[in-house]
Amino acid sequence: MTSYELLTAHHREAALWSGIAALVSWDQECFLPTGAAPWRAEQQAALAGMIHARRTDPRLGDWLQAAADQADPDQAANLRRLRRDYDRACRLPPALVIALAKARSEAYESWKAARVASNFARFAPDLQRILDLVREEADALGWNSAGGERYDALLEGFEPGTSTAAVAALLTPLAQEVARLLSERGHRPAPAIPRGHYPAGTQQALGEEVLDAIGFDRRRGRLDRTVHPFCTTLGPDDVRLTTRYREDDPLDALYSTLHEAGHGLYEQGLPTAQFGLPLGDAVSLGVHESQSRFWENVIGRGRGFAQWLLPRLQSRCAELGGWDATTLHAHLTAVAPGFIRVDADEVCYNLHIVLRFELERQLLNGTLAVTDLPAAWNARFERLLGLKVTDDAQGCLQDVHWSHAGIGYFPTYTLGNCYAAQLAEAATRDLGDLDQLAARGAFAPILAWLRERIHAHGCRYEAPELIRRATGQELSSAPLLRHLRRRYG
Ligand code: ZN
Repeated sequence: MTSYELLTAHHREAALWSGIAALVSWDQECFLPTGAAPWRAEQQAALAGMIHARRTDPRLGDWLQAAADQADPDQAANLRRLRRDYDRACRLPPALVIALAKARSEAYESWKAARVASNFARFAPDLQRILDLVREEADALGWNSAGGERYDALLEGFEPGTSTAAVAALLTPLAQEVARLLSERGHRPAPAIPRGHYPAGTQQALGEEVLDAIGFDRRRGRLDRTVHPFCTTLGPDDVRLTTRYREDDPLDALYSTLHEAGHGLYEQGLPTAQFGLPLGDAVSLGVHESQSRFWENVIGRGRGFAQWLLPRLQSRCAELGGWDATTLHAHLTAVAPGFIRVDADEVCYNLHIVLRFELERQLLNGTLAVTDLPAAWNARFERLLGLKVTDDAQGCLQDVHWSHAGIGYFPTYTLGNCYAAQLAEAATRDLGDLDQLAARGAFAPILAWLRERIHAHGCRYEAPELIRRATGQELSSAPLLRHLRRRYG
């Protein structure tokens, strides 16, 4: 076997094990009996250890070196990303990896308890420990001390090819413009869902009808119930979506399904022949999020989609019989600042991200002490969103990310929104008005466009280049602002 073949076989096997680990986690989120949790944690730790050992196998360095000499362009693209991932993994001392894993699981438990009690002080020592370790992690990974900052090293793990400075240059003016839009436009309350009982089974059937319509292949995936919705890939032909049902609001689950379906469509569109290799893998969290936001927001909250959806909704939910498409669209595009990021509307959402980006950057570079986080959060929140935070559970304790040491993760949500809006403008140039396509249920050309421009490339290009090639333009927040002004201005 050539070195490239050895590498391919090795990574495919690692990907098989990762798929099994994903299956075990999916089962934990959807079906695991509570008494089985400790046993499941042992299974997950055993799998994680095996997978990590494979991904840092010392033979990989030799194979990567040898394969580079006779690589064709596809192979070279795979080797570039494999080399980067391998080098990053090898830079982390095993003791640090273990310390981080332990700190994460402890911080997760203390975060849960602190959030229930709405008491930041209970989480603060664990957050401090996480920050100390994450600084070590960033230093081990390396960053450019001339002009760069520690945050760059962490961001690179979530959104390769971008930088803190580039993210700040995108987010800061975006926040100013969004704040202006909010103050000009004022709040737009949602027409209330008619009181009624909307059974989960009916909602599941509606969700599956929408999945089929937009092109999610249910022979290569399925939709199940969970507490916190997510999408996970167990293998190239097995993409699992999850949702949760509120039986007083059928749109809540539907839009979370649509969001996860955007992730799922991306996964189903990746080249199956490259399974286990970078060309068969999603390029970044931001690009992944762009696909979910594209279907949930750009398409799903458009007037055309509301027209298409209304009769389907009414045929299953008689309580909504009195609504017309304008009422449905008004419900889907309500604007009202709130405390919780995951409930935020399209306009306010990015302000929640700017807040987190600024604070975690300050925490990391030491200009904000952990103990001062709640006060800093609350003051900044009031300036950005005009609301006074009165308890930590609704404030700086609401997200799981920092307990998971996911510092550098938050900006990928807004990057996803920016990519999605930029893709929508380019798709409109090629396909015509997307709202009109959605109104007649013509989702296939939209999906085909995303398949060709984004999905088919896997990790061939880093996100900034992928977006440039897909849209013909450099990344900018202007398309997102145009989208928000058009829809909400
Ligand atoms: Zn998402």
